[in-house]
Amino acid sequence: MLATPAGAAATTDNFTPLSAEVLHAPEPVRGGDGREHLAYELVIANDSVFPPHAVTVRKVIVKAAGKVVQTVAGKQLGELMEPFGMATKKTTTIQPGGTAKVLMDVTYPAGAKLPRKLEHELVVFPDSPGSVELSRFPAAPTTVGQHQAMVVAPPLRGPGWVVVNGCCGENTVHRHSLLAINGALHAGERYAIDFIQMTPEGRLTDGPEDILGSYPSYGDEVLSSTAGKVVGVENSLPDGPIEPELAPPHAGDAGGNHVVVAVGGGIYAFYAHLIPGSVKVAVGQRVKVGEPLGLLGNSGNSNAPHLHFQLMDGPSPLGAEGIPYRFSHFVAEGTLADFPQFFGQGAKAQESGAPRGPRRGQLPLNLQVVDFGQ
Ligand SMILES: [Zn+2]
Repeated sequence: MLATPAGAAATTDNFTPLSAEVLHAPEPVRGGDGREHLAYELVIANDSVFPPHAVTVRKVIVKAAGKVVQTVAGKQLGELMEPFGMATKKTTTIQPGGTAKVLMDVTYPAGAKLPRKLEHELVVFPDSPGSVELSRFPAAPTTVGQHQAMVVAPPLRGPGWVVVNGCCGENTVHRHSLLAINGALHAGERYAIDFIQMTPEGRLTDGPEDILGSYPSYGDEVLSSTAGKVVGVENSLPDGPIEPELAPPHAGDAGGNHVVVAVGGGIYAFYAHLIPGSVKVAVGQRVKVGEPLGLLGNSGNSNAPHLHFQLMDGPSPLGAEGIPYRFSHFVAEGTLADFPQFFGQGAKAQESGAPRGPRRGQLPLNLQVVDFGQ
C-alpha cells in the first residue's frame, strides 16, 4: 500500500488511456521576437487497456496555477506531434502501446514573471468503449526554470546568416531529434542552429550548387562563443558531397569535424561540420571568446556548408540535453519567407519585414536572418 503524504488530500484514481511526461523541465530564453520562450517536449504513451485502442489527441492544454496559458490543437498539433521514429509520418493518433512526442513552445511577453510550474490537460478521442477511462485529464506537471539563458558571443562574422532549423515553435530537424543515445532519450539539439549564409544577392550560392566553394561561407572562420577548455575535437573526417538526402550517420560522426568546449557550470558548446584539417585547437587547450576554432565546412551529417552550433549540459553532442543561450548582439535583417525555394533552387531569398534592427541578448528564431558584424 502506498502512503499518502501527511496532510495531502486523497484523490480519486481514474484510468486514463494515455500517460504523458515532460522530457526535460523547460528553461526560459528570450527569443528574437522579444518573447520569453519555454521549449520542451511532451512524451506521450498509449497505455489503454480496457480494451487496448487507438487514441487521438485532440488538444494539449497548458495551464499555470489552474489558468489556461496556451492550447495546442488542430493543424498546429498535427505539425508538432509525431510518433517516435524519425521515418514515420506525423499523426495525432497513437496506437495501443505506441508513443509520441509533442514539441512545445510556450511563450510569454518580454520580462513577464514566469510560472514556477506548468501543468497539462490532454483531451483525447475516443472514450474507451467501456467508458472507464477519462477522455480529458491532467498530465505531465513540470517545474519551470527561472534563470534567463546565458549570453554568448556570435560564433561567426558578417551579414546574411540564416538561422536554419532554429528554435522554437516549428517542427524542425533539430527540435524533433529526440534520440535514444546511450540508452536514454535526449534532445541535444533542442536549441541548435544551422547557420547558412546567403550571398550578397540573397542566394544560396554564387556558382554551381554541387561545388562547396560556391557557398559564400565555406571556409569562414568559426569563433569560440565563450571562454573555456577544449574537451572534444575531431579533425579528420572528409567534407561530404552536396546531397539532398543523407544516409543515417554513425552517432559519433554526425557532427563531422567539430570542437566541444567546456564553458563551466556544466555547460558545453558544440561547433560542427568543420573543414577537415582546419581545427586549430587541441583537447586540453584553453580558449578565449572570439578565438578561431576552425573553418566552416560540410563534414558529417551535412547537406550544404553550414555551422551547427549548440549548447548542452554534457560533453556528448547527442547524449546530452540542449540548453538555451542568447547572443550578446546581432542585427536582425528579417525573416526568410520561403526557405524550401531558397534552399532547394537557390532562388533569391524572400524576406518578410520583421523583426529588424539591432538586438542584444536574444536567441534568433527559426529562419530569422542576422548580421553578426565584424
Ligand atoms: Zn544541425
